Amino acid sequence: MTVQSDTRRRPATSASGGPTLVSRLDELKVANSFAELPHEFHTFLQPQPLTNPRLLHANADAAALLGLDPAVLQTPEFLATFSGGRPLPGGRTLAAVYSGHQFGVWAGQLGDGRAHLLGEVLSPTGPLELQLKGSGRTPYSRMGDGRAVLRSSVREYLASEAMAGLGIPTTRALALVVSDDPVYRETVETAAVVTRMSPSFVRFGSFEHWVGRPEQLRILTDYVLDRFYPELKTPADGEPGSWEQAVLRMLREVSRRTAAMVAHWQTAGFCHGVMNTDNMSILGLTIDYGPYGFMDRFQANHVCNHSDTHGRYAWNVQPAVAHWNLYRLGSVFLSLGLQEDDLRSALSGYQQDFLAVYHQNLCRKLGLESWQESDDELVDAWWRLLHEQRADFTLAFRRLATVSQDPGPFLALFKDPESARDWLARYEKRLQSQQLPARERQDSMLRANPLYVLRNHLAQGAIDAAVRGDASEIDTLLMLLREPFTERPGYEHYAQEAPEWAERLEVSCSS
Ligand code: AMP
Ligand code: MG
Repeated sequence: MTVQSDTRRRPATSASGGPTLVSRLDELKVANSFAELPHEFHTFLQPQPLTNPRLLHANADAAALLGLDPAVLQTPEFLATFSGGRPLPGGRTLAAVYSGHQFGVWAGQLGDGRAHLLGEVLSPTGPLELQLKGSGRTPYSRMGDGRAVLRSSVREYLASEAMAGLGIPTTRALALVVSDDPVYRETVETAAVVTRMSPSFVRFGSFEHWVGRPEQLRILTDYVLDRFYPELKTPADGEPGSWEQAVLRMLREVSRRTAAMVAHWQTAGFCHGVMNTDNMSILGLTIDYGPYGFMDRFQANHVCNHSDTHGRYAWNVQPAVAHWNLYRLGSVFLSLGLQEDDLRSALSGYQQDFLAVYHQNLCRKLGLESWQESDDELVDAWWRLLHEQRADFTLAFRRLATVSQDPGPFLALFKDPESARDWLARYEKRLQSQQLPARERQDSMLRANPLYVLRNHLAQGAIDAAVRGDASEIDTLLMLLREPFTERPGYEHYAQEAPEWAERLEVSCSS
């Protein structure tokens, strides 16, 4: 077992004025707001515990967010709770219902088919729900076995923390518990349970579920408005507004957050892989990590999910798909009498919101003081160059920071360095049009372009070790990915281009 604890980042205890850490699970303040919704929103039940569970890894950073002393992570209570063996003290365990559009098609009822919500910790930073994933069958399991394999659980655990390290809105991961229980996929694998944390696991699909059921739709909407968007219940001018206007303001805000999230994905080279509406958070968080991928060699139409045969969720269509998903969410409210024009207009800022964050990120990544119209052409040419030469996404940005001192490492990423030189000439001309001192630009670019990303082959290395019960590779990756901009001597291997065999790694919906 590994409990990763970085004492430097541990919040201070009350003696020094910081938040108090509790040293027992039953000292956490636990509430159950989702459980208090009417019965049709969920089913109360217990998980099916893993047999002979072992804690492979626990995340002290996530525990700190809960206000939990890292020593708790090593207790038998912790293992029992987060392997599904006993409830969270004070929590009411449940599985939630939702529906959704999968690959563009209405899929009807889905729901937590292998997840159990344990309760909601009233943490120093606000409520955080704790949810087990892979913890057994529920009434929403359909044909599934309620389990998650170790492989996909390691991937979810790592991805949550990697995204947080990049500053991208995401759910977090608290614990990874493993077992020898067999799980049948393409081959026999073993079962694992990941504990995820999020202020809420409500999805677009949670709303879609209640189309045609106005009472429930209203209850869910009020729940989300009251808890997560209370400031939107009243108009900015303080005048009492209608409920319908509050819904429209909420949609505008969900649209803004979703646009920002996807813009961050694009500039990190992240592909989600399964952007179904049931995998879209109402809080604009990246959620439900499955066959995701951080791109190695850039390809604009890269498809990370081997099951996505038509490329519906390719990197370059993610922004449009998220907008389409927002329309599915918006159209739910037609059934409450909201007007189509109003709904459309609530979502009409999406593109502008997306571009604002996208351009801001690109400015930081390219060392530009501000975005200018002509930068569209420069960036188009950049993407074209990377695409045509299949250059490494992460390293191309990273090495651009130091290209003026030493162009060698940058040019080495391109099969045809001549066309890279042509682009560089344009880029350097653009840099000359601003006043920013080179040193300052370089420093800020190194803080905006990660050196380490969760490449598929690195995740695979951690999976292979985890299969042997060895969590050291998870430790190493978390250490690097939490501060992915900081170069660590001795870890050069993690900052290299992917080996050729990485292209043959296939990640699919099988999880
Ligand atoms: P996903 O695309 O992984 O987010 O899952 C889509 C739906 O399938 C959700 O309702 C999941 O709960 C359900 N699901 C996925 N895998 C399983 C499984 N092994 N057992 C039961 N339900 C599952
Ligand atoms: Mg899902």
